[in-house]
Formats: sequence, structure tokens, C-alpha cells
Amino acid sequence: MARLELSNLHAEVADGDEKILEGVNLEVKSGEIHALMGPNGSGKSTTAKVIAGHPAYEVTEGEVLLHLEEGEFGDEIEIDDDQRSWNILDLEPNERAALGIFLGFQYPAEIEGVTMTNFLRTALNAKIDEREELFEDEDADEDDEEDEGFETSPMEGPADEGEVGVAEFQQILQEKMEELDMDERFAQRYLNAGFSGGEKKQNEVLQAAILEPSIAVLDEIDSGLDIDRLQDVSNGINSLRDEQGTGILQITHYQRILDYVEPDHVHVMLDGQIAKSGDASLAEELEDKGYDWVREEVYGTA
Ligand code: ADP
Ligand code: MG
Ligand code: MG
Repeated sequence: MARLELSNLHAEVADGDEKILEGVNLEVKSGEIHALMGPNGSGKSTTAKVIAGHPAYEVTEGEVLLHLEEGEFGDEIEIDDDQRSWNILDLEPNERAALGIFLGFQYPAEIEGVTMTNFLRTALNAKIDEREELFEDEDADEDDEEDEGFETSPMEGPADEGEVGVAEFQQILQEKMEELDMDERFAQRYLNAGFSGGEKKQNEVLQAAILEPSIAVLDEIDSGLDIDRLQDVSNGINSLRDEQGTGILQITHYQRILDYVEPDHVHVMLDGQIAKSGDASLAEELEDKGYDWVREEVYGTA
């Protein structure tokens, strides 16, 4: 079980002083689905990017804490008492990922000659290595140094200790793609080359299925999808939660995807704060009435 806790989070544009987030409080646990809704410009994407460590934003107040329980990463990785809580704002983006946070809006660029399969295996092994470093016990240091001289291409070399090799990865990938109802040929395609909007979104879900994050932040994964793709992507998100217990922070402007991915909690963001929270019925109310009534209710003015 992992718990991501945003506490009084304030952020502004790094190279200016425009305030965007003005005290966001939010808690997402493994296995929960939260919808973060709100009008354009309210700060939803900024919230996601601050969680990811995007350099365009500067956090001026507050914390983003990740709390881990023993056994979060299986039996192999022991989590000491002093490693149970992390202020992830102190960590690099790849360290955040290694602790189990997935940020879905980071589309990999098109890279010539790299297949999806190779890209995904590289991403998984990078996460395994980074996690080992974060949780390494001191006795293991010596062995590690011996490894250093051993250089292999990250795309095709044999797996280092703890890493996932080509054959093993093929099996993982096949399982995940079956779970997500994805066409096998997809994995042989080159990274993002000629992918449609819908395929990119499906890729994002596949990436999350492979990396098995504790908490996934998905920013407008529903935008621009036709109804069939929306259903595929929604099935994928539900299976992340059901099969691997991922907690989901689903950022969306529209209620539509919430018909397929039923949220346990719905939050409305206005002007850089969470103005109102409720259950799934709040999303339906927003669908009927828009956002202005929330503003009226909270500020007494529309
Ligand atoms: P949402 O995702 O809810 O539509 P955003 O988080 O993208 O909102 O943006 C919130 C506000 O912050 C908007 O007014 C937007 O123009 C502003 N903003 C976001 N990022 C930047 C940036 N890098 N530079 C300047 N203004 C920004
Ligand atoms: Mg600044
Ligand atoms: Mg946005």
C-alpha cells in the first residue's frame, strides 16, 4: 500500500512569479481512483507536472509526500523505517518513478529505430536499477563497484543482475498486452512513429501496466478519443487498478470517461485549489450544471 499526499502545495512559474497552485491538499492511496476535474486553466496539469518534478514550476510552499508500507516492492526490497516516507519534491523525476509514481503525460518522443518493446524494457530496467540504488543496503556497495566496468548497450545488451532480460520481458509484455486487449503487432512498431492519438493513449496505459506503479497520474488521457478507444483505454485503467492495485489520479475536463472508469472520489479544482470533493455523483452534477455553481457555493460569487 502506498499513499501520495499533497499538502498545502503552492507552485508558481519557475521563471516568473505567476502563482498557479495556491494550497492544494489531496491524498491518493493504492487501489483508489480519484478524478481531478475543473475548468481550463484551473491548475490540473500543473498539479500533475509538479508531482512529476517538471522544471517549469517552482514549489514555494507545501509538500508532496509518498508513504510506503513494508512489502510495497515485494520481498526482495526491504524498506527500512526511515525509508517509509519521502518528500518527493527532493527527488529527481526518475527517482520518483522508481518509488512507484507514474506520470502519463510524458510521451516519449519518436526515436528512430527503437521499437516499443525495446523502449519499454529499457524503461522497466531503468526503474529496477534506480530502485535498487535507492534501497541498496550498505553491504552491497562493494559488489556494485565491480559491476561498473561492464558496459552494455541499454537497448540490447544482456541483463545485469536484477534486470529483466529479453526473453523474460517478451513474456511480461505478452501477458500485459493480453490483459489490455492490445494487438501484438503494436509492440514491434517503432516508438511513436505514426501512432494515432488513440494509440499513444493506449501506449501510455501499456507503459503503466509494464512499470506497475503504486500511483499513476493520467492527465487528459481521454482527450480526442473516439468511443471505441475510450472504452479500450478505460478498460486498461480499470485493469491497472484491479490487477496491480495502482491508485489512479485521473485528470479530466469532461465527465465522459468517468462513465467507464468509476471514481471513488471526485475533486473540483478552481483557481489553484481543490474547491470541492465528493463521490462519483459530484461528477454527474458537474456534467449537468457546469463548474460555476461550485464557484458560487465556495466563493459566494460566480
Ligand atoms: P489546466 O490543466 O487546469 O487547464 P494548467 O495547470 O495547465 O491548467 O494551467 C493553470 C494556469 O497556469 C493557466 O492560467 C496557465 O496559463 C498557467 N500556466 C501553466 N503553465 C504555465 C507556464 N509554464 N508558464 C506560464 N503560465 C503557465
Ligand atoms: Mg518563480
Ligand atoms: Mg491541463
